[in-house]
Amino acid sequence: MPVTLRRDGSLNDVGNRDNFLGVGDLVIRCVREMFRSEAPSGDERPVVCARSPNPAPFIDSTADPTTYNIYVTATDTFDRFAYQLAHELGHVWLGPENTCGVVEAIAEAVSIEALGRASLVAGQDFGVPAYPAAFGAYARSPLTDAGFLERVPPEVARAAQDGRGEDLRLFLRYARARIDGARATATPPDFDLRTIGAAALRSGSVCWPALTGLALMTTVPRVADDRLRDNLPLNYGAMSAAARSLLRRMGRCCGTGLAVLELPAAGAAERPLFTFTENEVTFGLVECDWPELNPVAARLGGRVKAWSEPDHHVV
Ligand SMILES: [Zn+2]
Repeated sequence: MPVTLRRDGSLNDVGNRDNFLGVGDLVIRCVREMFRSEAPSGDERPVVCARSPNPAPFIDSTADPTTYNIYVTATDTFDRFAYQLAHELGHVWLGPENTCGVVEAIAEAVSIEALGRASLVAGQDFGVPAYPAAFGAYARSPLTDAGFLERVPPEVARAAQDGRGEDLRLFLRYARARIDGARATATPPDFDLRTIGAAALRSGSVCWPALTGLALMTTVPRVADDRLRDNLPLNYGAMSAAARSLLRRMGRCCGTGLAVLELPAAGAAERPLFTFTENEVTFGLVECDWPELNPVAARLGGRVKAWSEPDHHVV
């Protein structure tokens, strides 16, 4: 039995309810098609979607183990509603009882993909004429949002807009401590890094089924009380090679060390060096192993700021 939006109890107090329910059906269908499964891990629960009592959307899969309770804040516009619902449905398929920075970025990517697919479906079938066509453009809008462009180094923003996967991968390795250190459910989380992570994942084609259940593959076992966990570390060694190759795009499972160089000034990027400026310092990121570190820095004219080891579990 597929995951479906239950009429009973969903969006009860929302104006234009029938159209919102139609959009909900459409989004759920698109996410099911992406993951090529009716329900994650054979879990056949209906979705009950309601207005969030919190400032942010969230999913609760444990209070009532027979339903996925999804809470959204956007019940005014169809595109925002669809985006939030698709993100929380991403958590359903990834494993809703744990989250972290990487999982949040993947859930963002699920939203973008699902809304892109929804925009290609005839909305009339769902009682929502005209609206879904604009969903794809809405889902891509965070990359051109004024706040995003102001906060993120311009070279990184351009790489995200152009889908330059290798550059994004290096930047996400550089930002790894920030991604892993932030509590995923803290307020406010670092949405910019989620946006960059989602762009990195989507820089190539994605085999979504390979990501099913990924959030529950953790190095620390979940306590059996089934409450939501925040920031249990992911166990890359337990994942399939297909999952690890997708996570490599997000700066994980990389088999070479990463050097962070401080460069004298912004210049033309010499690939595979990725350069960007942050707080008026020009950084260069290049992958090299420890014995090559000093020769590489000397060749590129940079000062070594940091070097991080290769990962244990590579593709
Ligand atoms: Zn989330």
